[in-house]
Amino acid sequence: MSEPSLDALRARMHELKDLGGVLGLLTWDQETYLPAKAGAARAAQLATLQGLYHQRLVAPEVGEWLERAERGASDPDTRAMLKVFRRERDHAVRVPESLVRALAEAQSAGLEAWRQARSERRFDRFTPALTRLLELRREQADAVGHGGERYDALLDHFEPEMTTARLLPVLERLRSALVPLVDALDGAVQGPPVFDGRAFEAERQWQFTLQLLGLLGFDLEAGRQDRSIHPFTGGTHPTDVRLTTRIDARNPSPAVFGTLHEFGHGLYEQGFAPEHHRTPLASSPSMGLHESQSRLWENLVGRSLPFWGFLYPRLRAAFPEALGGVELEDFHRAVNRVQRSPIRVEADEVTYNLHIVLRTSLEVRLLRDELAVEDLPDAWNTEMERTVGLRPRDDVEGVLQDIHWAHGEFGYFPTYALGNLYAASLMRAAEQALPSLWEEVARGELGSLRTWLHTNVHQHGARLPAEERVQAITGEGLTDADFLAYLRAKYGALSGRSLPAAPVPGA
Ligand code: ZN
Repeated sequence: MSEPSLDALRARMHELKDLGGVLGLLTWDQETYLPAKAGAARAAQLATLQGLYHQRLVAPEVGEWLERAERGASDPDTRAMLKVFRRERDHAVRVPESLVRALAEAQSAGLEAWRQARSERRFDRFTPALTRLLELRREQADAVGHGGERYDALLDHFEPEMTTARLLPVLERLRSALVPLVDALDGAVQGPPVFDGRAFEAERQWQFTLQLLGLLGFDLEAGRQDRSIHPFTGGTHPTDVRLTTRIDARNPSPAVFGTLHEFGHGLYEQGFAPEHHRTPLASSPSMGLHESQSRLWENLVGRSLPFWGFLYPRLRAAFPEALGGVELEDFHRAVNRVQRSPIRVEADEVTYNLHIVLRTSLEVRLLRDELAVEDLPDAWNTEMERTVGLRPRDDVEGVLQDIHWAHGEFGYFPTYALGNLYAASLMRAAEQALPSLWEEVARGELGSLRTWLHTNVHQHGARLPAEERVQAITGEGLTDADFLAYLRAKYGALSGRSLPAAPVPGA
């Protein structure tokens, strides 16, 4: 089929993907190898390229091609591709350039104020910058459009088709299920200290993570791994996927679980169907679904006993002095300890989602003008006590801990919780489809799981919205039932305690 508008549109999509790839490379480099003095030059280069990208996206001819192509498109893949492209373009067209510029400036100012506030341990240093960011995000939400709930417009950016009305009850249910579970499990998974006072040489950790990527099946000829302060996955193309990890010489967990996490993201990126490359379909339909892939490998596989039954002898061989006397079961308990913490990134699988419940409820109240920025630290502390069960010592341990709001990113946090829920549902479906999955994992054979994920999730890219994709695989959309069943089974066994009953299944 050759439709002139569709051909022209495809050519433009290719061009935009190429520009996006170059932006990805510059951003990756900024976080890994950029010399200290090159920061301002790189910021200018990124701004120029982003401007170019924007112009090529919103150009009037693209709108005309798109409309004609939409009228003529009949096959499902083309329609899905046009839908994803329209979403991005409409967003870019509706948000005026002056607002984009104002946001970029407010983000830089926000980051600086946040750093200042953290170093002085005073939230009020951050108040004016955060107030400004919220003002601009409200403007942005109004420009994009919403049905009376501004948060929807921001959420939609990260999790298309998800709404506040759909999300909040899911998170509230999680809160009521998890609070008693944390009460029952806090401190219950005990074991001897495994990492305290031991040394894990950085270079050997690095070599171990590379070996791990090979064992997991990451294609190192279509990607690479480097180090950064905050691990992330980026890159330029499904044949060029860049992972990063972080090494702490006192504890191998950040490197090992960071690599497992980013591997999950990277495998997804490498798995997009070649016929979709350089089109909007070669992407995940949502951040939540992307996060499901990282959490599945990091937690559901990567913190399981069968997986460590295979991997632990290798880790012990890499660190014979530190781990020579540590048994597999003790190591496994150490990486599955349940303990309340005020810090999200240190949270275990059981408490983690409570940190998201807290942030999301505050974000919604801020966007609804139900909560003033000045009152945010108090609201944070009150919610933290109600939800996680402890009070932060100060604002650095509390409301100032995450970088997201310093960037003015609202609507991102909930995708972490959605990722956890989707991961558990996908894993249940994988277990049903692959009856010998865990025996294979115990032998270090991960090929069946990789293939299953590729067939069911990765190759499809953005053909379907996230929840529809999950529903097509599991028969159910977003649900907490699989996640809570997973937690109860795993941590019931690890703690030897009888856990509070599961709530009635539902979404
Ligand atoms: Zn992630």
